[in-house]
Amino acid sequence: MAAIHQATAVVIGAGHAGLAMSRCLTDRAIEHVVLERGEVAHTWRTERWDSLRLLTPNWQSRLPGFGYDGNDPDGYRTLPEVIDFIASYAKAISAPVQTHTTVTSVRNTDAGYLVCTDQGDWRCRAVVLASGACNIARIPAFADRVPPAIAKLTAQQYRNPDQLADGGVLVVGASSSGTQIAHEIQRAGRPVILSVGEHIRAPRIYRGKDLEWWMDAVGVLDERYDEVDDIARARRVPSLQLAGTPDRSTLDLNALTTLGTKLVGRLAGITEEGHAQFAGSLRNMCALSDLKMGRLLDLIDERARDTGLDRAAEPPHRLPPTRVEESPPLGLNLATSRIKTIIWATGYRPDYTWLQVPVFDRKGVVSHVGGVVASPGMYLMGTQFLRRRKSALIDGAGDDARDLSAHLATYLDGGVRA
Ligand SMILES: Cc1cc2nc3c(=O)[nH]c(=O)nc-3n(C[C@H](O)[C@H](O)[C@H](O)COP(=O)(O)OP(=O)(O)OC[C@H]3O[C@@H](n4cnc5c(N)ncnc54)[C@H](O)[C@@H]3O)c2cc1C
Repeated sequence: MAAIHQATAVVIGAGHAGLAMSRCLTDRAIEHVVLERGEVAHTWRTERWDSLRLLTPNWQSRLPGFGYDGNDPDGYRTLPEVIDFIASYAKAISAPVQTHTTVTSVRNTDAGYLVCTDQGDWRCRAVVLASGACNIARIPAFADRVPPAIAKLTAQQYRNPDQLADGGVLVVGASSSGTQIAHEIQRAGRPVILSVGEHIRAPRIYRGKDLEWWMDAVGVLDERYDEVDDIARARRVPSLQLAGTPDRSTLDLNALTTLGTKLVGRLAGITEEGHAQFAGSLRNMCALSDLKMGRLLDLIDERARDTGLDRAAEPPHRLPPTRVEESPPLGLNLATSRIKTIIWATGYRPDYTWLQVPVFDRKGVVSHVGGVVASPGMYLMGTQFLRRRKSALIDGAGDDARDLSAHLATYLDGGVRA
């Protein structure tokens, strides 16, 4: 029988979140291992489209003890640059990563946890779940009614327009992934229909600065989980409709319709006969999105005024309203239309099928308070609004890892019982 390994703490996942935690555990002299099913930055290597650039500027990817030192702080990393950045971080902090090790189960023991992997088992007192928030694409239940002649891809499977069969493309979902993918395919000369549900429009540049700069500077990204009215709702808010492009242009629905993309409402269902049904709420969705953008910019203006940041900034401005045709189509016969591919950009969810500890709520979501999971010695990293609005961003991992490693250290010292 293979020997059982021992570690004080096991971190599951070597994305930036697991690595940030590793660095903070090292700073506290807490012995640990980071178990990773693939290579460091595995999801960036295997689950993103080729042309992806970060939507956060280079300066904003700050990790504990590591940051951007190039000459383009306001640029946006390409995919190879992101992979290189995270791999370089693992090297710089000498993270104790064991690659090609898939965690198959985590269970309680009398003294902590038993972490089983395909490369042997580990006993430990504390576990950090840093396995990512975007493991599985969310796809509507009616997706299997799509006629067989139409190819179906998730945003995780999409790589580039050349991969697609000739013909039109229906992209479902208009947050950052959906709009970026629709933009690329439209620019490749394909007819694109974009199905638009709830989304949040955002200008790339506001008052002469990157919107992310403003959200960082006025504290929006630092808002804590215990400061917002409805944290469950805040954790479900879709990603901002932003893209990182060399020309720093705004990628919104107006930019897409200018190129020729056709907008339809949220995909509400597909009939047995393969008839797609779109919600009649497109105009309302867009009006609401414009309203939410206005509220965000109003808040930025108010805080910029209060802090004096506006003295060096350009005057406030607003984008023209989203243009939507008077009566957008409510249906489309997929079997007879020119659509040959559907891309689901309808969000992602984590995969904790291997977690055999009773920490799930009624909806199957891991129960936690700011990343402290409802099982002693277990912590979560990298999920939407875990402790702060920025928690799911690369830039959010540092503060969260500092807080949670402090909690973990106190737990190991016997200071925290639950
Ligand atoms: C399309 C897209 C674009 C994004 N753009 C930005 C952006 O511009 N800026 C930004 O700051 N953030 C962005 N994000 C958000 C965020 O940075 C990523 O989701 C990031 O990958 C999350 O980091 P993580 O370390 O929490 O998880 P991941 O990077 O997913 O890392 C988790 C690791 O755990 C491993 N793992 C999972 N299960 C197991 C298992 N059972 N056993 C062992 N290992 C396991 C995985 O292989 C993976 O390497 C984007 C996310 C997506 C999906």
